[in-house]
Amino acid sequence: FLILHLFQRGIMANSFDDECDYLFKAVLIGDSAVGKSNLLSRFARDEFHLDSKPTIGVEFAYRNIRVGDKLIKAQIWDTAGQERFRAITSSYYRGALGALLVYDITRKATFENLKKWLHELREFGSSDMVIVLLGNKSDLCQSRQVGVEDGQSLAQLEGLCFMETSAKENVNVEEAFLQMVTKIHEITSQKSL
Ligand code: GDP
Repeated sequence: FLILHLFQRGIMANSFDDECDYLFKAVLIGDSAVGKSNLLSRFARDEFHLDSKPTIGVEFAYRNIRVGDKLIKAQIWDTAGQERFRAITSSYYRGALGALLVYDITRKATFENLKKWLHELREFGSSDMVIVLLGNKSDLCQSRQVGVEDGQSLAQLEGLCFMETSAKENVNVEEAFLQMVTKIHEITSQKSL
């Protein structure tokens, strides 16, 4: 049923059609409605949806990214609404080399909850996981509740990469995923030396 569901949503189409040097799994994490699904659909299919659906289940999408002379298939997992019920299990994090930890710059509570998400990431994720902190909805700066410097200082404190993004206006989305994949590639190539 899950496979059928993914095909229906067009998420698995063209997933296995070409040769890649590496396959990296990464997860999207953060409170409900911060824009995780839209960041993923923007990155994977260049789409944005005004009325997002709270689906239940796990969704993932693939996209190939070139880093230097290597072709990397990024497999990005989305909670697909499970975070509403705090039902994210360890299998969601298993094998993930990277995480995009997202908050909404217009909702302070989503920033305050980051500590909880970081705790969970560190409990279930691998110790050298690359974590990129994203302050999403940067297009809504008139409703901003979290300053850029708040994101920056948390990132510095916790040793994370940081960027503000807009899935809606396609600002920094490509850069965020690319930064994560490039960092993962650096770490895994150092390990294999
Ligand atoms: P998720 O629950 O974290 O996956 O969040 P969604 O991707 O479903 O987005 C929640 C809501 O925020 C939807 O109504 C989206 O249209 C909206 N949204 C997502 N990203 C942005 C953004 O960058 N800017 C604006 N203005 N709205 C956004």
